[in-house]
Amino acid sequence: MHDTPVLQVKDLQARYGAVEALKGISLEVYPGEVVTMIGGNGAGKSTLMKVISGLEPAHSGSVLFKGQDITRMPGHLRVALGIAQSPEGRQVFADQSVRDNLMLGAYHRKATRAELEHDIEAQFLAFPRLKERQHQMAGTMSGGEQQMLAIARALMARPQLLLLDEPSLGLAPLIVKEIFSIVRSLKQRDITILLVEQMANQALSVADRGYVLETGKIILEGSSTALRSDDKVRAAYLGSH
Ligand code: ATP
Repeated sequence: MHDTPVLQVKDLQARYGAVEALKGISLEVYPGEVVTMIGGNGAGKSTLMKVISGLEPAHSGSVLFKGQDITRMPGHLRVALGIAQSPEGRQVFADQSVRDNLMLGAYHRKATRAELEHDIEAQFLAFPRLKERQHQMAGTMSGGEQQMLAIARALMARPQLLLLDEPSLGLAPLIVKEIFSIVRSLKQRDITILLVEQMANQALSVADRGYVLETGKIILEGSSTALRSDDKVRAAYLGSH
């Protein structure tokens, strides 16, 4: 693992007024890795994702994408560079069809109609449910289907780094399993992923490595195997002692 990291975050701080949401975070994600950031409510996970994708500003520290400092780069330029986010709460365009949502995921690409059609077919292959529902308004689909759409829409950007923010949020256990098997299949396709999750067990079962975030600080990091057998992680995040 001596390649340049796809993502490198160095001593990152973020604030909302007086609230210090991130208090000096450092992490790396290497090509082809799935890395998870686990942590409870309010730990700062979504803030971290937003600072990486450019939706929230960094207070200090830096974000590097393939060695390039993007800390102050506007979000839309980061998408064009190859960073796509499937946001917390999915945020699909409710009044647009599944197909149109997918098209919007590729808005920044200078792709031909034929290339876009090809990529949409590729998403339909990976997410057959979306093919069945391609003409349905996204807002009328189930939470799990919307989550699949949010991931597929992000993939339409052909990202080199996929940011997945709590894909399990608000979904029934069976659907959560389905979503994680999709994440597993993305990993098999060598897609580099940063996965933020409260469901530590599921996240560590798919990730290569992980970090544990508590009140804006990384308190632990290691291979998924090491984290799963760590007493503190087991007690606080895996529901066992
Ligand atoms: P959750 O899983 O509940 O989404 P999280 O780990 O993603 O939690 P963040 O949403 O990043 O946590 O929040 C980190 C801290 O920043 C929390 O204390 C939260 O209250 C605060 N915070 C988040 N967004 C804002 C905002 N827009 N204005 C003020 N404070 C905020």
